[in-house]
Amino acid sequence: MQETFYFGAGPATLPKAVLNIIKNDLVDYCGSGLSVLELSHRSDEFIGIVDQAENLLYELMGLSDDYAVLFLHGGATTQYSMLPLNFLHQGKTADYICTGYWSNKACQEAKIFADINTIEALIESEVVAIKPIDQWELQRQASYIHYCDNETISGVFNDLAGNESSTIREATLFCDMTSSILTRPIQVKDYGLIYASAQKNLGVAGLCVMVIKKELLNNVCKNIPIVFDYKKCFESSSLVNTPPTFAIYVLSLILKWLKDEGGVVESYKRRQQQAKSLYDVIDNSGIYENKVAVQARSKVNISFEIKDRALQAKFLQHAENHKLLGLRGHSSAGGVRVSLYNAMPKQGVINLLEFMRDFESSRM
Ligand code: PMP
Repeated sequence: MQETFYFGAGPATLPKAVLNIIKNDLVDYCGSGLSVLELSHRSDEFIGIVDQAENLLYELMGLSDDYAVLFLHGGATTQYSMLPLNFLHQGKTADYICTGYWSNKACQEAKIFADINTIEALIESEVVAIKPIDQWELQRQASYIHYCDNETISGVFNDLAGNESSTIREATLFCDMTSSILTRPIQVKDYGLIYASAQKNLGVAGLCVMVIKKELLNNVCKNIPIVFDYKKCFESSSLVNTPPTFAIYVLSLILKWLKDEGGVVESYKRRQQQAKSLYDVIDNSGIYENKVAVQARSKVNISFEIKDRALQAKFLQHAENHKLLGLRGHSSAGGVRVSLYNAMPKQGVINLLEFMRDFESSRM
C-alpha cells in the first residue's frame, strides 16, 4: 500500500520513530507504571524530561550560558502580547517589521499595549519581495525590532539577523521562528530572543519555546501576571505553574531524534535539496507559479498557485488520492502549500514531485 505523507503547516507531521515511542510511553513511561500523561510536573521523571529537552536545545542551537531556555504556555500568539508586556516600559516603543500574516498579527497585538512603529517591508507586485533595509524607517530609540524570519503562509523568508547593516547589528532582535526553528544553522548571539510554537518543528501544540538573552531578563517590566512574566518563568525553571507536560515530553523526543539524524546541519542540507527540486519543478512548469523573489523564498513553507485556478481543486483531490495530504494553502491565501519541516521524510518529497510532474503532463 502507498505510504501517506502529510505536508500540513501545523500541527505537522511527526517522525514515525517518535510516534512509536510515544505509543509505549502513553501506557507505561519507562517502567514507572504510570502513563507519561500522568507524571507529576514535580516528579523526578518529569524534571528529567525538562532537563533533557533543555540540554538538547543548548546543544542543537549552539547556545552559550548567556542564554536561557523558557517553556511557555500557549503558542507564539501568546508571546505577541507577552513581548510588549515584558519589555515595553512606560513610553517605550519598538519597531515591527511586517512581511506577511504572522508579523502583521504580532504587530497588531503589540499595538494593544504600546506605541509601535510599523514598518511595511513587503513589496507585493508581480514579484513579492522585501524592501531593502535602507528604505525602512527604523527608530533609534526602539527597545527592540520584532520580525518573523519565515512567513508560514506566503513562504517569504527574511534573514534579518544575517544582515550586515550596522543598524541591525546594533539592535536587539526579537524573532518569531515558529516555522523555521532548527531548520537552518543560526548564530544565536545575533538575537535578543527567539520564540517558536512547538507544533511544526518541535512536536505538538500548546507549548512555546523561547531562547532569551539572560541580560534581558533583568529589564522585565513590573506587575505582570505571573504566567506571563519571563523573569519569573526563568526563576522557576519554567514551572511557575503546571506546564504543558505532554508537549514538553514530545519536544524532548523530537530533539533527541533530530540529534540522531545529524542535527541542524544535516536537516538543513536535506531541506535545501528538497526545496530546490520543488522550486525547479514549479519554475520550469507551464501550470504552477510562485511569485516570491528568489532571495526571499522560504525553504520550509513553499506556496504556489495553479495558473488555471479551475484546476486547483482537482490538484488537491488527486494529491489526496495519491496519499499526499495537507497541501491546501492557508484559508487567507488559497493556493497550494508544501511544508518541509524536519520530520518530512525524503520519500514524501520524491512522491510529491513525481505527482506534480504527472499532474502537469496529464493536463498538457
Ligand atoms: N507565527 C508563525 C510564523 C506561525 O506559523 C504560527 C502558526 N501557524 C504562529 C505564529 C501562531 O502559532 P500559534 O497558533 O501556536 O499561536
